[in-house]
Amino acid sequence: MHVEIDLTGRRVVVLGHAGAARRIVTRYRVAGAAVERFDTLTAMTGGLEGVTLVVEVQGAGTEASGRGDDAGGVLRQRCLEAGALLTREPAGRDTGHVSLVGGGPGAPGLLTLDAAAALRDADVVLHDRLGPTDALTDLAPSAELIDVGKLPGHHRVPQSGINALLVEHALAGRHVVRLKGGDPFVFGRGSEELAACLEARIPCTVLPGISSSIAVPAAAGIPVTHRGVSHLFTVVSGHVPLTDEEHLHLAGLGGTIVVLMGVSTLPQLVAGLGRAGMRPDMPVAVVERGYSTSQRTTSGTLSTIVTAAGAARCQSPAVLVIGEVVRVGLQLQGSAAHLARLTESLAS
Ligand code: SAH
Repeated sequence: MHVEIDLTGRRVVVLGHAGAARRIVTRYRVAGAAVERFDTLTAMTGGLEGVTLVVEVQGAGTEASGRGDDAGGVLRQRCLEAGALLTREPAGRDTGHVSLVGGGPGAPGLLTLDAAAALRDADVVLHDRLGPTDALTDLAPSAELIDVGKLPGHHRVPQSGINALLVEHALAGRHVVRLKGGDPFVFGRGSEELAACLEARIPCTVLPGISSSIAVPAAAGIPVTHRGVSHLFTVVSGHVPLTDEEHLHLAGLGGTIVVLMGVSTLPQLVAGLGRAGMRPDMPVAVVERGYSTSQRTTSGTLSTIVTAAGAARCQSPAVLVIGEVVRVGLQLQGSAAHLARLTESLAS
């Protein structure tokens, strides 16, 4: 039998333990009811007067918490007297949830407080090779850690597989953290993972992170903007070479260009920007493995950087910075080094 009742503002009592009853309570709340939950009928402080509906959650352990054989009869009788409807619903399993977490560029100190809290609470962490992966056993002590990391060109777990894992673990009632390097919505396919969760009706929270597009230049001392030098920066994916129209627009903007995933397409980018009229002496920096002990900056100009990066065997992961701000960064570093030497000589 299917009966429709408008429950807006009506009192609904749910009998069952919190975990087992959570989804049912949420469903009635969403329907506008004033929901109260009790472990058992005897746990109810008041009577059933004014209650429209009593929902007994089956398999929720109500029997185990002292309900005798005739308790079903007592409940039926009490509902009848109070004029309340009685229904029974299976407990079902509690759905877990997914946190799509931006882990920042790799240093644990650059995680947000919310990201650290999500990791502490996680049952499962799906991570890849970027972000604060080394510190995960400390950051997520009670979680199963699953590496779905992709090496450039080798998709270790395909995106559809990652989406399926997220959904599968959440449906099993777990708190799943999908930890992504930098920010989840900057070239991270985070929006696809969010869509997969929403399609499976799994609650998903997105926690932004510090993107490597800003943090990695900063690690090398390069500001992406500097008053009087550059008042804009564009973040581009170098995963596939840009079109000539894109080169024209980028060169025409006259601001800082930050490229992620751009090591292998650097020659095409440099040639394209040159064709688009960018000055050959425009400063360029390649910052590899930001925030790691092997962080390294290779710098040059539009006309020299391909040779310099080749000679230095620059590799992914690296952030490329093209623009006058690179010179500002080098000058700042020069001043910092000068200051350090000065302090040292004064101290000795
Ligand atoms: N969502 C990420 C970017 C993912 S694309 C973010 O917001 O940072 C992956 C690319 O990010 C890498 O190829 C590299 O270009 C860059 N990257 C991320 N972390 C980096 C790091 N610690 N050092 C250098 N480059 C990094």
